[in-house]
Amino acid sequence: MTSLLQAGMEVKLRIFRFDPTRDERPRFQTYEVEADPMDRLLDCLNRIRWEQDPTLSFRWSCGHGICGSDGMRINGVCGLACQKLVKDLEGEVLVEPLPVFKVVKDLVVDLGPFFEKYHSMKPYLITKTPPPERERRQGPEDQQLIEDSIRCILCGCCTASCPVNQNQETESYVGPAALVRAFRYLYDSRDEGFEERLSVLDRKDGVWGCQTHWKCTEVCPKEIPVTKEIGLIKRRLYERKRFP
Ligand code: SF4
Repeated sequence: MTSLLQAGMEVKLRIFRFDPTRDERPRFQTYEVEADPMDRLLDCLNRIRWEQDPTLSFRWSCGHGICGSDGMRINGVCGLACQKLVKDLEGEVLVEPLPVFKVVKDLVVDLGPFFEKYHSMKPYLITKTPPPERERRQGPEDQQLIEDSIRCILCGCCTASCPVNQNQETESYVGPAALVRAFRYLYDSRDEGFEERLSVLDRKDGVWGCQTHWKCTEVCPKEIPVTKEIGLIKRRLYERKRFP
């Protein structure tokens, strides 16, 4: 294959297309776009939509790995289109929607159930003790403990890649993204909501649904140690049972 490092290369994209209001079944459509090696997959998709086919649907917002809205499956691996450089993509690029979620149109999926699971974790600071005079302070060491999990942008790549979520029999599992958010509060030195979160965490489809496949950690675009954090939640629950 000719090196993509030559400027002005033609990049071939095979893109999943499905409009449930018109199509009986999904299909794939192939497009060719001119791209610079340092362009991102997102640039290619935008070029297709602006110059070739305005019917192609996909989500994006910031374009810089912060909003988490352009998660999709790229050559079989979930990731952000704005973080994939053309020079790193080999051959014909297969672009599909995130698995696990229902397709709304083309690369756009329904993230409603994903956010329901996220909200079930009560993703906010819960406090019971009266507030101090100025603020609830946190030392650098305690902050360091939750530093990684705070980077989560809720892109859904981890949950979409999780074999447990991909299995219809176990799809009720809350999934890694919701658990990362639970970790963020369970291990926050200021939070006092551990007991309140137990009813959704200490269940077969809560944290115990995790089978430690590590797929979540492999795909996370923010390099969060997802599996390790889920393991620490399990440990906290186990210790609570063992040493009540
Ligand atoms: Fe995305 Fe990583 Fe957050 Fe999962 S943990 S939603 S992959 S940023």
